[in-house]
Amino acid sequence: MEYISTRGKVAGIGFIDAVLMGLADDGGLLVPKVIPQVSEDTLAKWQKLSYPELALEIFSLYIDGEIPRGELKKLVDDSYRTFRDKEVTPLRRIKQDLHVLELFHGPTFAFKDIALQFLGNLYSYISREKKSIIHILGATSGDTGASAIEGVRGKEGIKICILHPHGKVSKVQELQMTTVNDANVLNLSVDGNFDDCQRIIKELFADVAFKQEYHLRAINSINFARILAQIVYYFYAYFRLADQGAVAGGVNFSVPTGNFGDIFAGYLAKKMGLPVGKLILATNENNILERFVNEGVYQPGEFHMTYSPSMDIQVASNFERYLYYLNGEDAETVAALMDGFRKEGRIAVAGEELAQVQGDFASAAVENDDCLATIGQVHDDYGYLLDPHTACGVAATAQFTAKGEVTVALATAHPAKFNEAIELIQIEQTFPPQIKALFDKPQHQKLVSGSNDAVKDELLKFF
Ligand SMILES: *Cc1c(COP(=O)(O)O)cnc(C)c1O
Repeated sequence: MEYISTRGKVAGIGFIDAVLMGLADDGGLLVPKVIPQVSEDTLAKWQKLSYPELALEIFSLYIDGEIPRGELKKLVDDSYRTFRDKEVTPLRRIKQDLHVLELFHGPTFAFKDIALQFLGNLYSYISREKKSIIHILGATSGDTGASAIEGVRGKEGIKICILHPHGKVSKVQELQMTTVNDANVLNLSVDGNFDDCQRIIKELFADVAFKQEYHLRAINSINFARILAQIVYYFYAYFRLADQGAVAGGVNFSVPTGNFGDIFAGYLAKKMGLPVGKLILATNENNILERFVNEGVYQPGEFHMTYSPSMDIQVASNFERYLYYLNGEDAETVAALMDGFRKEGRIAVAGEELAQVQGDFASAAVENDDCLATIGQVHDDYGYLLDPHTACGVAATAQFTAKGEVTVALATAHPAKFNEAIELIQIEQTFPPQIKALFDKPQHQKLVSGSNDAVKDELLKFF
């Protein structure tokens, strides 16, 4: 399988090179040259597979022999063995037309583990095979950092440094990152906000000499391996509903969305041939994507602090991948649109194109009060506790689930990770023992000023 850039200046690279490249060298995003198609016969066969077996089949289509099947199987098994539920992503019925797909049974209790457990093992494999060092550098507002660290801690040939804004991530997120005491992990707590962290990372990666000398690699959600890992659970959830004979009326997915990685994986699953109904794009008050779907204008708005901080974004880093397909896989048009976005700060679509967008997605923006009300209501009515991100997805389902349809709401985090919001509605939850235990462990982090040089100094000592 060849990978190409959405901006047309990178072509013909294989899966492993696409993983190592992360962002395409021309500034675009990497996509498979051809989306593999899955026939009805294959779907019928896949329905009987376990989660890791299904992952192996789907990954094989995109990796196309570049990793021998036996090795790939081991990578997949190692990645999902760390999950606390034997189903990996179990589907829970809330009511007749609403099911919740629990994606939070990995080591850090958020869905990012599904991709980052795999990416960690994949990097480790690549390091062994290519006999090359891998130095991962990333910035996090919380979930990604913890998950990436869990994905590579203690692994040979890999070092990871994660920047987080000092005092500005949730307590559990901070503890998950900083209580790790492996020699290959460095936590830098930056005196600044998330944007400062991201700017430092961007500038260090832009220093090509530094990037190459120190083998810097990225873990952010634009990495195609992360998208690939997320395709699997759309199929898995669909098959579990099919087992119950519940797919005939149509199956929708509701996805709490920030950087558009998760829902883009659903879009690919649909393009591969999975019979998906509506893809419901749920945002919080940071609703750039909701405005794009409903009004046709992609333009950053005012920043809002919400109860679902992992969706607090102004620009969705994976959105360009969708633009590529919306524009008939025409890289020149995408490059022009992104150039226009850089200059004018907006992209607008209308007419048939907007109709196409609205055929691909339905969308709702969920306000803070509505998010909390949904958590309270689902808890009262069904005895099920949603985390605030998942609650945005659930709040969006009602208006889009037509009679006879079933909607699967993706549960992207465990509620214990965001107790700050749950407390506000006077619900007392019991923390899982793994999270409770974090509060007694010593923390390992270094406080640094928000300057590139301060971070670079620490990196040089660490590498
Ligand atoms: C990252 C994250 C999201 C958003 O996912 P995207 O792929 O960025 O759209 C939603 N919920 C939680 C809990 C997350 O950590």
